[in-house]
Amino acid sequence: MFVNEYRYGLLLFRRDGSALGSASVTPDWEPAVEWTRFYHARRGETPFCGDGTASIQPLWDRKEGEPYIRGFRVVCESAADKVASEFPSNYLSEVAAEASAEFVKRGKLEPGDTYLFQAVAYPANGAGKKAGSPLDLKVVEEQPAVPLEDADLAEYRMRSAAAGAVDADDMPVFVPQHALDEVEALTRRAEGCETGGILIGRMHRDPSLPEIFAEVSAQIPAEHTQGTVAKLTFTAETWSAANAAIRLRNQSEVYLGYWHSHPVREWCRARECTPEKQKTCRLARDFFSEDDVAVMRAAFPRAYSIALVANDTAFTGLSFSMFGWREGKIHPRGFYLLEDSHA
Ligand SMILES: [Zn+2]
Repeated sequence: MFVNEYRYGLLLFRRDGSALGSASVTPDWEPAVEWTRFYHARRGETPFCGDGTASIQPLWDRKEGEPYIRGFRVVCESAADKVASEFPSNYLSEVAAEASAEFVKRGKLEPGDTYLFQAVAYPANGAGKKAGSPLDLKVVEEQPAVPLEDADLAEYRMRSAAAGAVDADDMPVFVPQHALDEVEALTRRAEGCETGGILIGRMHRDPSLPEIFAEVSAQIPAEHTQGTVAKLTFTAETWSAANAAIRLRNQSEVYLGYWHSHPVREWCRARECTPEKQKTCRLARDFFSEDDVAVMRAAFPRAYSIALVANDTAFTGLSFSMFGWREGKIHPRGFYLLEDSHA
C-alpha cells in the first residue's frame, strides 16, 4: 500500500528572485519507492520484491521549517522490517518544468528562461484550500515475484570487461557479447529506422557481499513493431513473443529492460549536420529522449530495469549506451561485457 498524507506544491521564481507564482503538483513517487526497496534489498536489509506499506514524508527545510521542504523520505515497512531513503527536492524538477511551462504559456516567463523553485508540503487534511479532499492514496502496482539465483559476483567480473564508466554504486549489469552482436545486426538491417527489442535475463544475488546483480541472457527482437526514424513502440505481439520466449526457455528469466537503436546518421542527414559536427552532437551518444523515458517508466519501472541504446552514427562504428534508474531517475550508466564462452 502507498500512503501520502501531504499534498505538495511549488513556489516558482524568476532568476532575479521575483515571484512567478505557485502550482500544486502530483509528483510520480513510484520510482522513489522502487529505489528505496531495491537499494535496501541489495544490502540484504529487506526482501527483494517484498511488499508492505510505502509512505512519503516531507523533510522540512532546516532553516525555514514547515511548509518548506528540502526533500522527502520514503519509508517502506513490512511486518519484518522497516527501511528508508531520503531524496532531495530536485526529485521534483520534472513537475517543476511542467509548472514553469504553464507560466511560459501565460507569458510570465520566456521559453528557455531559468527559473528557481521551492517545494512545499501541507497536510492533506489541513486547513488549506483543498481541505476535505480525499487523501492521495494509491496502490503501488503489484509486483510479480522475481527469482534470485545465488551467484559469485567476483567470478562474473573475471569473465567480463567494463563497458563505459561503471559506477560502484550502481547494480552490476552483465551483457553477453552475442546479445550486442545481435543488436548490431538488427540495427544494420533496419537501415535508418529505429528498431529494438526486449532484454530478458536473470537476477542474481551474491550472499557473501551481499549484492544483487543482473545478467542479460537474450534479446527478443520487436519483430512486429514498425519503427520510424524517430520512434519505436512495443505492440501486444512483441510482449506475447517475449512472454513465450521466457516460458519456452524455462530458465527463470524475467524482463530486464529493452534496447533500441538511434539512427543518428539519419537524424543528422535530415538536419544537414556534417560528420564533423556529429562528433559533438548530443544525440550521438548517451542520449535518452522523452519518448525513451516514457517507455522506460511505463514498461520497465523496476529499480533494476535497464535500457540499452545502439548509437548508429556516421563518424564511427556502432556504439552502445546503457541507462538505468538511480535514486528514482534515469541516468546513463556503465555495464560489464561478458565473454561468450560460458553461455
Ligand atoms: Zn530513443
